[in-house]
Amino acid sequence: MNIKQELSLYNTLTRKKEKFEPLSPPFVGLYVCGPTVYSDVHLGNCRTFISFDLIYRYLLHLGYKVRYVRNITDAGHLEGDRDEGDDKFAKKARLEQVEPMEIVQRYTLGFHEVMRAFNTLPPSIEPTATGHICEQIEMTKKIIENGYAYEVNGSVYFDVEKYTREHNYGELTNRKLEDLLENTRELGGQDEKKGRLDFALWIKAKPEHLMRWPSPWGWGFPGWHIECSAMSTKYLGETFDLHGGGMDLQATHHTNEIAQSRACSHQAPAKYWLHTNMLTVNGVRMSKSAGNGFLPEELFTGNHPLLEKGYAPMSVRFFMMQTHYRSTLDFSNEALQAAEKGFAKLMNAVKTMTQLKTSSSSTSNIQALTDQCYAAMNDDFNSPVLVAHLFEAVRIINSVNDGKESITTEDLKLLQQTVNTFVFEVMGLKSEQENQGTGNKALDTVMSLILAQRDEAKKRKDFAVSDQIRDLLLAGGISIKDTKEGTVWQLN
Ligand code: AMP
Ligand code: ZN
Repeated sequence: MNIKQELSLYNTLTRKKEKFEPLSPPFVGLYVCGPTVYSDVHLGNCRTFISFDLIYRYLLHLGYKVRYVRNITDAGHLEGDRDEGDDKFAKKARLEQVEPMEIVQRYTLGFHEVMRAFNTLPPSIEPTATGHICEQIEMTKKIIENGYAYEVNGSVYFDVEKYTREHNYGELTNRKLEDLLENTRELGGQDEKKGRLDFALWIKAKPEHLMRWPSPWGWGFPGWHIECSAMSTKYLGETFDLHGGGMDLQATHHTNEIAQSRACSHQAPAKYWLHTNMLTVNGVRMSKSAGNGFLPEELFTGNHPLLEKGYAPMSVRFFMMQTHYRSTLDFSNEALQAAEKGFAKLMNAVKTMTQLKTSSSSTSNIQALTDQCYAAMNDDFNSPVLVAHLFEAVRIINSVNDGKESITTEDLKLLQQTVNTFVFEVMGLKSEQENQGTGNKALDTVMSLILAQRDEAKKRKDFAVSDQIRDLLLAGGISIKDTKEGTVWQLN
């Protein structure tokens, strides 16, 4: 049974209040590969984390008790197995003359700030690679003991050839070993690996490596893939339900995670793999190295050459929900502006919905609409189809409001429950005004008082006062923007 069928069945049955045990209910283990914190996250990274936030929220809504683990990669990240000399954290730390862990701290805080702006729920556990060096060493030792890894000169490599004699190394991507080998360059004379596809579990530290730990093989640092195997096993067990990450991780990082787990505990780590597709800009994948990565901050302020204006976080979140997580999503100003309009329309309808008058009969089938919303999400978390159904709800709300259609009290209650559940709880949207603020209660309260005063001034057409408030706030480091939904503000 696939995830689609399991969720569908679970949902149907729980709503009928029957007992059913899909996955390992009521508990679900979800592991998502988190950010590498030697620089700011870009909007592409955010797409992946927002997609998993939707999935996490929906599982919670269905009644699962989810243990959601999303790691922080904060040690010697090597982009690909050829990139062994370059510790990105140390490089940046050296440039800025700070400790590598200061880099880690700065970008971890920045990442949390961005996640908060997008209204994503924090994971249940957010373990760091540097906090789990012992676990990674233990796992590497076990893989050597089981005969699937070897040590050369203080580094340890996974023996892919040995592994492929008993297992299908390309199982996740359905690729054959011959094809994989064809796409890998020959071993150079200097290469200490036995096989071309072998990858590092532990890497000997060169003199310039700042982040290093003692191990049975000398001073070094862990390979990238082993961190996720060690942390997912520690917090979710040897086999857990769902493992996720961006599509770019499937062919190497996740393929190697499976090999490590099977070599260590003879089990596949996850029952289901979920991969989010890439956010692209003019068809090119957004990435740190391509230099086309907007920072969320640039997106919110409009301060980037490719941006015509700033876009509020909730409009951007809604923009992402309009595309299925497994499809690519291309960024454009037009698409974002359309999403901005759609989001405002949805929010207006939510407001209108609270004031609708009821009648003795309904012209629309609200129960069918509710079922369609669940069916969309049960169909592999199909958020664009869900959005289409919610716009049918918007149409009904506006029609009833205009007196062209009618709705009973009971149906209105169901409509409100459905719309509120899917818009706020599942899709994680908020009105822009609700989403703003710093989390500092005193500052947020003062700001709402000041903005109410400015609204009053605007209503009396006292533009001198309203402009003065705006300018004084700006001088104090707070910028405000008048939107269709009201005034929004942010710290500069
Ligand atoms: P990184 O910080 O580069 O390790 O990436 C963190 C997460 O973001 C990983 O799950 C990546 O697969 C994902 N990711 C990276 N680039 C993109 C992109 N352009 N679109 C969507 N997800 C991405
Ligand atoms: Zn990972």
